[in-house]
Amino acid sequence: MMAGMAAVLIATSNAGKLRDFAAAAQEHGIVVDALPGFSSLPPVAEDQPTFEANARKKAEIYSRFAPDAIVLADDSGLEVPALGGAPGVRSARYAAHSPEENASDAANNARLLAELKTVVEEQRQARFVCVIVAAGNGKALASFRGEAKGMILHAPRGSGGFGYDPLFYFPELGKTFAELSATEKARVSHRGKAFRKFLEWMEKGGSR
Ligand code: IMP
Repeated sequence: MMAGMAAVLIATSNAGKLRDFAAAAQEHGIVVDALPGFSSLPPVAEDQPTFEANARKKAEIYSRFAPDAIVLADDSGLEVPALGGAPGVRSARYAAHSPEENASDAANNARLLAELKTVVEEQRQARFVCVIVAAGNGKALASFRGEAKGMILHAPRGSGGFGYDPLFYFPELGKTFAELSATEKARVSHRGKAFRKFLEWMEKGGSR
């Protein structure tokens, strides 16, 4: 950890996100941890219309449970212009039966493929978006946005990552995100990019 740096805790129960953050942090010699006891904290409804607002809400609420730490929450998702920006902020719940519940990655991927069934190659562009909000003692301090551009395949490829990774083809590397190692994904992903912006902010003393 950087000298004098406050602990950086990630407020998520998503093991895939945590792995992404840990890989991005490791490249910079930084250790991040999950917010202790996260799974027993009351869930925060992600009912806001934007990634930024959802991330802010989560970061502000969860940072109250870890006094004096920097708590990061991210809200992220996949935007497909051919689907009017869906699944967007509803990415985790795309195939769910009610707005409150999440659906499995497999069900969400199946719905995405079904929605794009008749959509031709040139219109299968997509982007992952990640907004991280850093908060301390219940107050949002700053937000950071990262994006990654790719295409949605017709069938999954690869076994790494999580969520829509097996369907998200990243032309620059000629692979899906699920075919990348955690380190490779962190270098190019929306989450890795947003996290590096957070680190720059920390290095400039943003949290003090
Ligand atoms: P939330 O940020 O907890 O609302 O959930 C984000 C959802 O977006 C995840 O459950 C995934 O379905 C999708 N998503 C976000 N980031 C990624 C990623 O890096 N790879 C694959 N899917 C992602």
